[in-house]
Amino acid sequence: MILGAAVLLICAVWICVRTFWGREGAYAVVELDGQPYGRYALDEDQEIDIGPGNHISIRNGAVRMTDADCPDHICIRQGRISRDGAMITCLPNRVTVQILADGKTEEDAPDVIVY
Ligand SMILES: [Zn+2]
Repeated sequence: MILGAAVLLICAVWICVRTFWGREGAYAVVELDGQPYGRYALDEDQEIDIGPGNHISIRNGAVRMTDADCPDHICIRQGRISRDGAMITCLPNRVTVQILADGKTEEDAPDVIVY
């Protein structure tokens, strides 16, 4: 009885935490030069070249820009992203990588790309 209550409480707290911090994303949606480039499932570890100058790695449900030939490397310094709505942008190469939750499409995502 007490154990059941404890498990329920932990579940409730966990749901609150998840809601507060945002959902885990399910896909990485990549755009190159303002055009859709690809959509990649995060539950699969993979290496993806984006155009001639960028490379992303998907590992353990998170995406990281691992290589870029842009001069500033800001995209690489943005680190790992995995939350719904999170985004890595490489302005010089016009590459964006956005995380979307399951069931969402690119059209649901806020259009924050301003060049
Ligand atoms: Zn960059």
